[in-house]
Amino acid sequence: MDKFILAIDAGTTSSRAIIFNKRAEVIEIAQYEFSQFFPKEGWVEHDATEIWNTQLKAIKDVISKSKINPKSIDSIGITNQRETTVIWNKDNGQPVYNAIVWQDRRTASFCDKLKEDNKSELIQNKTGLVIDAYFSGTKIKWILDSKREIREQAEKGQLIFGTIDTWLIWNLTKGRHHITDPSNASRTLLYNIKIDKWDDELLEIFDVPRNILPEVVDSSAISAYIDNQIIGSKIPIAGIAGDQQAALFGQLCVNPGDVKNTYGTGCFCIMNTGKSSVKSKNKMLSTIAWRINGELTYALEGSVFVAGALIQWLRDKLGIIKDASEVENLANTVEDNGGVTFIPALSGLAAPYWDPYAQGTIFGITRGTENGHIARAALESIALRTRDIIIEMQKDAKIKFTNLKVDGGASKNNLLMQIQSDLLQTNVVRPKTTETTALGVAFLAGLASGFWKNISDLNDLWIEDKSFNPNLKNDSKHIINLWEIRIKKLLKDNE
Ligand code: ADP
Repeated sequence: MDKFILAIDAGTTSSRAIIFNKRAEVIEIAQYEFSQFFPKEGWVEHDATEIWNTQLKAIKDVISKSKINPKSIDSIGITNQRETTVIWNKDNGQPVYNAIVWQDRRTASFCDKLKEDNKSELIQNKTGLVIDAYFSGTKIKWILDSKREIREQAEKGQLIFGTIDTWLIWNLTKGRHHITDPSNASRTLLYNIKIDKWDDELLEIFDVPRNILPEVVDSSAISAYIDNQIIGSKIPIAGIAGDQQAALFGQLCVNPGDVKNTYGTGCFCIMNTGKSSVKSKNKMLSTIAWRINGELTYALEGSVFVAGALIQWLRDKLGIIKDASEVENLANTVEDNGGVTFIPALSGLAAPYWDPYAQGTIFGITRGTENGHIARAALESIALRTRDIIIEMQKDAKIKFTNLKVDGGASKNNLLMQIQSDLLQTNVVRPKTTETTALGVAFLAGLASGFWKNISDLNDLWIEDKSFNPNLKNDSKHIINLWEIRIKKLLKDNE
């Protein structure tokens, strides 16, 4: 009987289930969206029960659509939106509050207080993170403090906490397993990434009782079996990883210096730094990539808030394209940017500038400026922001890389990928599969179960779609010079 891996991809807007075969090909996908709640300005919530129900529907659907026997599923891998926080009653399985989503800013003022109390250095040293409402720690505290009974029940050991991986595993095993992996634990602000343990000093700062925390298991290991009644087979859960780390593994960035960049709404850039956690001097995040056979691999992470979103802006606000895919042709109507630089600070500028008040700016417009120049400068700006991050990462990690692996919706744009290669003077490689996140956790599960033997086995399964090599003769230096001068000017005008 042919065997398969089931990847559960629990995203921010939808629950997905994907079946991979031994050649790492997608056999079938099922997907259900779930509700997004915005109860107040800056608040974002999900209904954890709806996440579980849609996930279960997606799992059942993908099995029936693919017509495979559940007994032919070798193992399950789970990847998830990170940081999103659920607290539930361990006796009846009911969440005590909606899941607070990673985007939620309600705890920003508590974060400011921690910074005023000079906790930044201590927290960065232990967790690799900056103090921000983005991570789980302050969200847990907020739920526990929202009602006196909730805090009391937690102190009595009646409640448990989990990120979405933990919540789904708890439901898939009918409450038998309360576990997570280090890639997820390392996003909570409660986990000491140096010693690979929950940290009492951090628990005290965030006022979180230790007994609500999950056990932290390897990212690639048989750590639980789903209940027989879920889909009629007791399948092992053998892979767990947060979405960005899973994508790093799915791109087979398994050696120090390997980098992947996802070009979606924003860009998520993440570099494998091997066995050592690197303390960033540029406010990049240092995080755990995965733990395999008890051994940690670390990563540096940096993001660009506005990437594909800039193309949406060209489409929806400027109206110079009707569909995102048209931007490539429009940019190809001109030979170069015509002296135009687009600073894509549509929601401030993150690393390495960290100016939340910066605004988007187009420099260098003349009477000769055409839509094509604007489109080209917009694509260049996505590549330039990625370059900004990668250069700082390389300085932090003291590693120079040779290949940038890419994925995400905007990576389909060949011109953007060529520009990226030229500006970085490095090869940019795009794989055939676009499902790198799900594939990554399928790889983690399949390695643990013996479905795939080792990483070199996987190398044959990672298939290149297209590689872009740097063009030495073009005007990249000039583009970079103008960018550096103009971004400095913008930041100076803001002072
Ligand atoms: P997300 O997962 O963040 O929703 P996706 O990976 O699905 O994002 O990518 C969608 C984004 O990619 C959109 O912001 C869209 O504007 C952009 N995009 C899609 N196709 C292209 C293209 N050919 N060129 C440039 N940007 C594109």
